[in-house]
Amino acid sequence: MQFLEESLIELITQTSSNLPPDVRHAMGIAVAAETPGTQASQALSVIASNIDMASSEEGPICQDTGMPTFDVHTPVGVNQIAIKKAIRAAVAEATRRGKLRPNSVDSLTGKNSGDNLGVETPVIHFEQWEKDDIEVKLILKGGGCENKNIQYSLPAELDHLGKAGRDLEGVRKCLLHAVWQAQGQGCAPGAIGVCIGSDRAHGYVLAKNQLFRTLDDVNSDPVLAKLEAQVMEEANTIGVGPMGFGGKTSLIGCKVMAANRLPASFFVSVAYDCWAYRRLGVRLDASSGAITKWLYRDPSRTVEKMAQGEGFPLTGREVILRAPLTEEQVRALKVGDVVLIQGDMFTGRDAVHAHLMKTPPPVDLQGAVLYHCGPVMLKQGDTWMVKAAGPTTSSREEPYQADIIKNYGVRAVIGKGGMGKKTLAALKDYGAVYLNGIGGAAQYYARSIDKVLGVHLLEFGIPEAMWHFQAHDFVAIVTMDAHGNSLHADVEKETGAHLAELQNA
Ligand code: SF4
Repeated sequence: MQFLEESLIELITQTSSNLPPDVRHAMGIAVAAETPGTQASQALSVIASNIDMASSEEGPICQDTGMPTFDVHTPVGVNQIAIKKAIRAAVAEATRRGKLRPNSVDSLTGKNSGDNLGVETPVIHFEQWEKDDIEVKLILKGGGCENKNIQYSLPAELDHLGKAGRDLEGVRKCLLHAVWQAQGQGCAPGAIGVCIGSDRAHGYVLAKNQLFRTLDDVNSDPVLAKLEAQVMEEANTIGVGPMGFGGKTSLIGCKVMAANRLPASFFVSVAYDCWAYRRLGVRLDASSGAITKWLYRDPSRTVEKMAQGEGFPLTGREVILRAPLTEEQVRALKVGDVVLIQGDMFTGRDAVHAHLMKTPPPVDLQGAVLYHCGPVMLKQGDTWMVKAAGPTTSSREEPYQADIIKNYGVRAVIGKGGMGKKTLAALKDYGAVYLNGIGGAAQYYARSIDKVLGVHLLEFGIPEAMWHFQAHDFVAIVTMDAHGNSLHADVEKETGAHLAELQNA
């Protein structure tokens, strides 16, 4: 199969950079639904631009290209070992080309393999079928939304929704709860793949498999079709909204299957995917490995531009921030302000935060802007290039952030999804702000970075290193200020109240 590896590289490249038409369509409806000028509308405007930029440049839509998961069907007699080798080679090559971020980390040593290969990475599922060609489907689902997957064991008591029993009504409550608990941390609006039944381990596999259905697909089981439609309607009244800013669209897809279960168990497994819902597939000629057909695409339909305007619509009321920031500058900011960051910023995520708890930073962080980001970087000669650089989920840094603000004088933290009470208190006590970037807008933000000024702690791997960037007009919204206000806490409270209204609907 002389074309197999190239076909798979093309599949990975297209999946990473070109959102499928059904997802574009759903996001187009979401863009039209939000009220212009709101934070939800601003977020969607950036997302729409980012989708266009990614496909025109063939760059990753989001810097987190996730755990590559392949679903392969082969005719009887095809050598699956050869296909597995070709998939691994294609994944390594796509990583080298900057289409995938090096995302495979040894769970014991913390070492990044650098090529997305490792124990059980990538994930490959094989199935035989009675057709003549090979089908390969791929889903790239990042860590932020993966961390918002949730599994319920019924009966259960759910926040705001009360008791969920072992029936469809109980399942409905679980699905509404799943959307609510994700808030902005999974880069809403999202989609859920659901398995009712099975066991704990297989239930999650089957739930993720549901994400291979198109968003406009209607369930062949009328009972499940009704449940999907009801959850779609109700979840979009809760008000989580894009990025958890509050708004009209929280869910763009709900796909449910039911599997048999043990008499003693009743699991509802939910795979939550973000708006950057990257899945594509190909049919391959079984003798040459050449692509004969793309799945999820309609060749007669041209890919339309998503963006109506130019990214984030600026009003002239934005606040310019240039590091090092003073306490006075930061205390003047309040929730809802839009800022444009100019000049120096440093990235830092899980490994950097854990490191800084024990060791002083390799740079002076007094007045600094700290960006929760694990970028996709490529080295050309001696120069590092930013290929994708959106914000990562900040809540993972909650155990560390307050100490880092206090000990090193950080004045602004950029991330997505917000942070908790300890960080909010530290913002107030020491004079700092939390700025929410638009999650997944990796191409958009890569264009706000003029230069890579340096890199520290590269031994943690590319996504976890501390990158020193020079930014211009890097746009973010103040969602936690130095006066004890948090948009995230407010939205969680309001949406919880809306969830309660649905309890007995
Ligand atoms: S869009 Fe958000 S949740 Fe999705 S992969 Fe990117 S950072 Fe993660």
